[in-house]
Amino acid sequence: SHPHHQSHLTFEELQAILLETPSGEKAGEWSQYYTSGPHLAGKNLSQAEWTRDRWNEWGIKSEVVAYETYINYPVDHRIALLEKSKSKGTETWNVAFEATLEEDVLEEDPTTALEDRVPVFHGYSASGNVTAQYVYVNYGTYQDFEDLVKANISLEGKIALARYGGIFRGLKVKRAQELGMIGTVIFTDPGDDGEITDENGYKTYPDGPARNPSSVQRGSVQFLSIAPGDPTTIGYPSKPGVPRQPVDGKIPSIPSLPISYAEAIPILKSLNGHGPKSTEFNKYWTRNQGLEYKGVEYNIGPSPEGVVLNLYNEQEYTITPMWDVIGIINGTIPDEVIVVGNHRDAWIAGGAGDPNSGSAVINEAIRSFGKALEAGWKPLRTIVFASWDGEEYGLVGSTEWVEEYLPWLSVANVAYINVDVGVRSPVFSASAAPMLNKLIYDVTAIVPSPNQTIPGQSVRDVWDGHISTMGSGSDFTAFQDFAGIPSLDMGFGGQSKDSPVYQYHSNYDSYHWMSEFGDPGFVYHRTMAQILALATAKISETPLVSLNATDYATALKGYVTQVEEKLASLDSDAEPTTETEIAEFRARAVGAAVKGDPAAFKFSLEKLHASVAKFREAAIELDAKSASLSEKANEHIPWWKWITKLKLLHAIRSTNTKYKKIERAFLYEGGLDGRSWFRHVVFAPGVWTGYAGAVFPGLVESIDNKDFVNALKWADIIDVCIRTATKTVQ
Ligand code: GLU
Ligand code: CA
Ligand code: ZN
Ligand code: ZN
Repeated sequence: SHPHHQSHLTFEELQAILLETPSGEKAGEWSQYYTSGPHLAGKNLSQAEWTRDRWNEWGIKSEVVAYETYINYPVDHRIALLEKSKSKGTETWNVAFEATLEEDVLEEDPTTALEDRVPVFHGYSASGNVTAQYVYVNYGTYQDFEDLVKANISLEGKIALARYGGIFRGLKVKRAQELGMIGTVIFTDPGDDGEITDENGYKTYPDGPARNPSSVQRGSVQFLSIAPGDPTTIGYPSKPGVPRQPVDGKIPSIPSLPISYAEAIPILKSLNGHGPKSTEFNKYWTRNQGLEYKGVEYNIGPSPEGVVLNLYNEQEYTITPMWDVIGIINGTIPDEVIVVGNHRDAWIAGGAGDPNSGSAVINEAIRSFGKALEAGWKPLRTIVFASWDGEEYGLVGSTEWVEEYLPWLSVANVAYINVDVGVRSPVFSASAAPMLNKLIYDVTAIVPSPNQTIPGQSVRDVWDGHISTMGSGSDFTAFQDFAGIPSLDMGFGGQSKDSPVYQYHSNYDSYHWMSEFGDPGFVYHRTMAQILALATAKISETPLVSLNATDYATALKGYVTQVEEKLASLDSDAEPTTETEIAEFRARAVGAAVKGDPAAFKFSLEKLHASVAKFREAAIELDAKSASLSEKANEHIPWWKWITKLKLLHAIRSTNTKYKKIERAFLYEGGLDGRSWFRHVVFAPGVWTGYAGAVFPGLVESIDNKDFVNALKWADIIDVCIRTATKTVQ
């Protein structure tokens, strides 16, 4: 234990409480509470207060904090297919198909039947009423649109019909808008759900695990790779009365709506026979097309002149409070702080997976820490728990909070732990800053897995151990990319081929779905609460902070190599064959003129390798020092050796401070090109992926644009950051 710290509990005793306390039954109770009615961002004050009251009851001092944020609520909408007919020389437009834009009400699933259920809509979407021919744009990725442009498919003035998947939905709308399209309809293709569809004989929800044909994915269309948070206050907190900036370029100016596959079918079928068939058009387009058995031929269009879509979207924009709940356990070291967060707002009445499985999990973790406090635990570091509002619209509650407390967080925050969807499948998944990899491995190794094929298996034993790099799409983004705090995001959220379809952002992400299909008995909820509590305890209680610098160096070396490989692949015309090669091939910018000299740039990558090698030496030394101090911290020092003890305390403190500063060294004040809110030079969401992370984003985007002058600039910036990190840890 920490030599200066008197707790009545040993670390082992604390761990035992955190493993024993979480209960599936209680998690189920919290799940049922949160998912019993609509709790959209800015419309969930009673749930914020309830959360605060529970946390206080459990012994964690908590309060509700409010921000004044700019968001939209749905008013009215329509998607209709119109066809022109001629009789006796006069033209008339007939409604060939009128979408209900409603999900089926299911007797078994009470929250699907609520009078005040949330209409289908997109967060931060533009109001508008457009009628035009339409084009099927596949996933609507940057490359998909490039393929259409190259094939001379007319896009301007037309409506884009895109399927969900691949990238963040807002970026589909963004690219459509940039190419002069006037609206976007996004549907869910059941082919993207993998093995379980009604096509292969599974029954659809609620009778079975396949996607309900009427399910619709709501969601934000903010341009999140430009900046998350309130789009009128980028970089500073949305406090009452603050100046607000115009939203152009941050959210769409063309209307968009989501639609179910059942209601997309007639619209897709009207494209049959018009324009190229995607199977003949491009081999990348045919992946996961799942509606052929319903007669959809996946023609691209455009639809003929006499077949148009009417897309009408009316949104009310308003400035309204959002409520974060913040709970604090004060530690004895005031300036070493761990933040643990989950969002509370959902698109729908349910949200049993997203986000309230995480809310149930964080509650069980907090309740467990409360029990430990009762038993005499004296926390070493300060732990802050957060229940964020407004994540769904664009990480609003967490981003505003980080923007407000940046000066304090920059000095004190050791790590941020995020749980969004805590449970939606039996497959554990994680993404993390490399310094936190070891923490995840250590903690999952001591938590028993609920699905043991061999008795005694831990979560670590049955998990493939893959940890993704940090992208975006949840509340870790402001911590990692804006404040430079090592962050991790985890949950049972992996895709498995025979787990039931998770009906994301639809009415069917409900308590009924969770208790029947997702996690009967809430056993994975319990396991996730154990993992979350142990991870929090491990990083807050061990005398030396559980960050591993060598893992960062190893990762950086790999990223530099990736850039080299990317550069090499630019000169080769070899046909891509593996999945990764294909992805790489497709990610390349097409037709950009080459600026600068790739050869000179290649040299600067060697320089980066050299800096990383130096950082690695220093990192190995720091980790070794940390290990030896941590052994000393566990030895008993007699009172009369007080000078030895003071020296040890000093060494521990200065070592921890070094760890705390490493991630901060990778922030570049100027920010990334064209999106200066993103300040981390190693991690950012991809400009055209949103969810998936890019490494060395400034550098890699420059290479994608074949701008080697800019690439050289970025190599220098990164080099300076790595050297700063090296000095920090020496
Ligand atoms: N997690 C939400 C989503 O994927 C919000 C992400 C965001 O807006 O950044 O839709
Ligand atoms: Ca802001
Ligand atoms: Zn979520
Ligand atoms: Zn969500």
